[in-house]
Amino acid sequence: MTDLRETLQNVFGLNEFRPAQREVIEDVLGGKDVLCVMPTGAGKSLCYQLPATELSGLAIVVSPLISLMADQVQQLRDEGLTAEMLNSALDADEQRRVLRELEAGFNGLLYVAPERFFASSFQNVMARVSGQIKLFAVDEAHCISQWGHDFRPEYSQLGQIRQRLGNPTTIALTATATEDVRADIVRRLGLREPTIVVTGFDRPNLRYESRAVSGGKKKDEALVELLKKEAGGGIVYCATRKNVESVTELLSDRLRGRKVFAYHAGMTHDARTASQEGWMESTNGIAVATNAFGMGINKPDTRWVVHYNMPGTLEAYYQEAGRGGRDGLPARCVMLFSYQDRYTQEFFIDKIGEERNGDARGAADAKVIEEIKKRARAKLELMLKYGGSRICRRQMILDYFGDESEVVDCHCDICRRDEDGMVATGPAPVLPDEVVMLVRQLLSGVARLHGKFGVGAVAELLTGADNERMRRWELDRLSVHGLLRAHAVKRVVAMLHRVLEAGLARQRDPEGTKFMPVIELTAAGVAVMKGEAMPPVSLADLVPRAGSRESGTNPRSMRTNPRARAEAEFVENDSPEVRERFERLRSCRARLAKVKAIPPYCICHDSTLKLIASSAPGTMAALEQIKGMGPYKVKTYGKMLLEAIHSDGSRLESQLAPDPVDDYS
Ligand code: ADP
Ligand code: MG
Repeated sequence: MTDLRETLQNVFGLNEFRPAQREVIEDVLGGKDVLCVMPTGAGKSLCYQLPATELSGLAIVVSPLISLMADQVQQLRDEGLTAEMLNSALDADEQRRVLRELEAGFNGLLYVAPERFFASSFQNVMARVSGQIKLFAVDEAHCISQWGHDFRPEYSQLGQIRQRLGNPTTIALTATATEDVRADIVRRLGLREPTIVVTGFDRPNLRYESRAVSGGKKKDEALVELLKKEAGGGIVYCATRKNVESVTELLSDRLRGRKVFAYHAGMTHDARTASQEGWMESTNGIAVATNAFGMGINKPDTRWVVHYNMPGTLEAYYQEAGRGGRDGLPARCVMLFSYQDRYTQEFFIDKIGEERNGDARGAADAKVIEEIKKRARAKLELMLKYGGSRICRRQMILDYFGDESEVVDCHCDICRRDEDGMVATGPAPVLPDEVVMLVRQLLSGVARLHGKFGVGAVAELLTGADNERMRRWELDRLSVHGLLRAHAVKRVVAMLHRVLEAGLARQRDPEGTKFMPVIELTAAGVAVMKGEAMPPVSLADLVPRAGSRESGTNPRSMRTNPRARAEAEFVENDSPEVRERFERLRSCRARLAKVKAIPPYCICHDSTLKLIASSAPGTMAALEQIKGMGPYKVKTYGKMLLEAIHSDGSRLESQLAPDPVDDYS
């Protein structure tokens, strides 16, 4: 094997391999199947082009993007490589010429569209030359999966085709494959114990932020204030055409002197092109667009990307936000996040089956559509989790894509908040030893199951459950079985979710089909378990509350943790009636928050709810006397809260019609 770096420099004119390129290439050259997941622009092509030059013989590259093939082939030829293509854009003579070349023992890269394998002329030639095929590369491999966003039926035969070609070494490449899609690609292509490489999703210069704002006017104000501070050019993404129009109007009106360009699929072709070009040429222009905007648009100095609406998946968010800072300089990616956006996305999900009629998926059966919807909902939950995350957003994105790169020097709002000391009012909170111990015990339970079981099994293991599952897998013989015997299973499940949220563990769905995620430690979790690092302070209140089954009051943790203290006091001193009232008030607040599309604490804090629960005011005037309840709050929420105090609150729902939803065109 020649020195790969030499080939990289001499043939491709590039200096260094990018992360993982070399490993992928070495595996491919060693005859191993590889699934390569890297974002757009990361340099996937090199991962098959370089091996193709090293292996003498035929390298077939399957790509659905006929329009890009000619460019790719030309580029390779410019670099002095041998490359041909076969697709419907070629005239008949050209096609015949390429087929003749193939028969004559073509040695180089052949780009084909997947449907080419259905043409008998091509099939015949392939049958004769299959012995010479050294590499089979499937670009945009997510097209093979029903669960991908771009399923193409012509891709679904590629597994069989590969077999007919004699199972050549295969590399599948894609930018957007979640675990389930990855599993699907491996299975459908029949890859043999493939190396799966996921990398390049880290964009250190992007500063991810998410802000919970209520919809409507508040969001508009937040957007205007934000953009006043951003001198450079950028994009405001909206979920609907209607929002594009209203936001364009808002910004044109409020940000005088800035050019605002609207863009959505409902505009005429000319108007869209004019918008796009105007924005590209401007230095500080604002594009206001739906997700129709962006394909093939490259403005490296995009300094910010704001999402006026939350997208439906983190893939979509990542891709859209990722249009910022392509020049490597800092760029801000802010998501304005309101609960209303959830309904918008749910509405889109509900429509999934309808809009697919007539497209490539054709009369997909109802079961498939149900499954797609189910997955879309699960993805939406993760998107919401990102929005409300208390852990590093960059880390969350990397975890989502399965990229194990280490996050260093992060500038996301969560990481910066700690840096700036914005949360550290007063002395830095000290984690009680009990919490540190408890976290380590939880992590050791996770570690012992080696990523083969889910949260429930870990909780059963730690609480020492004596059941069929424990016996069948002999988990009752592990030393950690019963380590947290004093706690209820449910409680341990809840604690494990906190540990996940804190980034010490992550969930994966290895089967990709069942939605039964397993839990495993992250690098941070391993460090904490081994005692090399402290758990994050966000876990300070993990210690069980007093009065519960699990343990007595822990004076030390109470001292250091006001939230635990307040809850303990409340639980200890109050009667069951008060506690019940509190629970009713809490669910009333949750419903109000949902309807108003604001976070619950904006209605009132727990401490206020507790005061209301214990004094049980009977009138609006009495309610207003309570600390934390101003006249505005009493006016807005008083009636419902009083009802919740004195009844079971079940009448509330009928009184509160949700705000009318947007137009979703
Ligand atoms: P992808 O298919 O992953 O979207 P491409 O393969 O089209 O990305 O590569 C994107 C760009 O990155 C190309 O211009 C390519 O020349 C460049 N590139 C790829 N690998 C390297 C490298 N090791 N060093 C510098 N540039 C690279
Ligand atoms: Mg590519």
